[in-house]
Amino acid sequence: MSGTASKGGYKYCPRCQRVVETRVMEEFNDNVDIGGLQAKRRKIKCGLDRAGAAGCRHEWFTVEVIESELKAQLGLTEKGVSPGI
Ligand SMILES: [Zn+2]
Repeated sequence: MSGTASKGGYKYCPRCQRVVETRVMEEFNDNVDIGGLQAKRRKIKCGLDRAGAAGCRHEWFTVEVIESELKAQLGLTEKGVSPGI
């Protein structure tokens, strides 16, 4: 089986319902269009390796979008939004 799993950092696992250490399934990384937004999609796995060692092995996708584009799409303004640090 090809593909690598890089560190995904600590993320909220919807099955464990807590923040856990995760891995990113690299072969599933791609760019997608979500509601007109360009997003980077990643497949995340709960665990310490591709097999989900020490985790519940649940898999899910996350998407990363540019904040300003997301706000524009949702009709949000900077007003009332906490500035980033
Ligand atoms: Zn989990």
